[in-house]
Amino acid sequence: MNKTCIGCGAILQSEEKSQIGYIPKSALSDDDVYCQRCFQLRHYNKNQAVSLEDDDFLQMVSSIGDTKSLVVHLIDIFDVNGTLLHHLPRIVGNNDVILVGNKLDLLPKSTNRTKLTHWLFRLAKASGISILDVFLISSAKGHGFDELLKKMEVERNNKDIYIVGVTNVGKSTFVNRLIERTTKEKNAITTSYFPGTTLGFIHIPIDTNSTVIDTPGIVNKQQMAHYLSNRDLKLVTPNKEIKPINYQLNPKQTLFVGGLARVDYLKGEKQTFVCYFSNRLKIHRTKLDKADELYEQQVGKLLLPPDNETLKILPELTRSTFRIEEAYTDIVFPGLGWITIIDGNASIEIYHPKGIAVSLRKSFK
Ligand code: GDP
Repeated sequence: MNKTCIGCGAILQSEEKSQIGYIPKSALSDDDVYCQRCFQLRHYNKNQAVSLEDDDFLQMVSSIGDTKSLVVHLIDIFDVNGTLLHHLPRIVGNNDVILVGNKLDLLPKSTNRTKLTHWLFRLAKASGISILDVFLISSAKGHGFDELLKKMEVERNNKDIYIVGVTNVGKSTFVNRLIERTTKEKNAITTSYFPGTTLGFIHIPIDTNSTVIDTPGIVNKQQMAHYLSNRDLKLVTPNKEIKPINYQLNPKQTLFVGGLARVDYLKGEKQTFVCYFSNRLKIHRTKLDKADELYEQQVGKLLLPPDNETLKILPELTRSTFRIEEAYTDIVFPGLGWITIIDGNASIEIYHPKGIAVSLRKSFK
């Protein structure tokens, strides 16, 4: 008979480290064992991502739709395209959803949060996700938790709360802080932890009536994070509030975002391009007619990231052309950051990794 994890109930296996129920071979023969994910959760507060193909995941989590619960969908406000789950309505059925944008601490202070919130509402609506409310928080710093917890308290009515999100949005950090706040006990997840009954779901009681259920981090292939080495992921992820950097650009000039993306200013007046990226992701300005050569010779060298490891997995750069009319338009590079075109009225060509679509939005100023 297959052995199961005494934590989450997953069938134990030693073949695929990234899959649910993984346990090192040496530990498989012991009695009453936890899979590595549960083990790490108990011992290091580290919730491992589980790689699941979309269909498997959908099947697994569609059980949420059969329950009466409250769903908290966590996204990364730096990578909304890569982290907003378009399948959500199919997963959660008629249950209420609160959308939570994490990593607020990284946004420049000048960001208009009301506009950002409205934009998230609109995006969710456009994806067919009907949401009760949007909150902006920082799981790392604890910002915004008071308001969010109040809302969750009002809405849950003794129901269970499912936390749903793709990998790298900060779900473990969020769940740990949630537990710390709701149980007033630091590291509660390691001490008062209930074995779950559903495969891969971690159940954490918050009182006698409700449980917070942490679902496995979903792998979304359109997320930039999957195409970067660990070292590059650290470089492109801002580690403090972003400081915008201004570039005055004439037409026929190019900005390289490391060697991961490129903006060619084709037509328009001289104007300011404001770059919002991790300060460790270097921007290079060059003449448009020199840009191809610079990229060929310097990608992975002067134009970093990508490092050698990233170069092996990064999709090739592909081109999209945009005509920008309005002033204060952002070009968004999912998972990297964005560039604000101050005056508008510009023709622009963008190079971006294939499959990681660039989009435009009105600035939140
Ligand atoms: P998970 O894969 O969704 O469980 O994400 P983790 O909790 O492991 O977080 C992914 C990365 O985002 C880690 O480097 C965290 O330190 C970072 N992170 C999580 N929450 C925040 C936040 O609120 N602000 C910032 N700046 N970083 C965060």
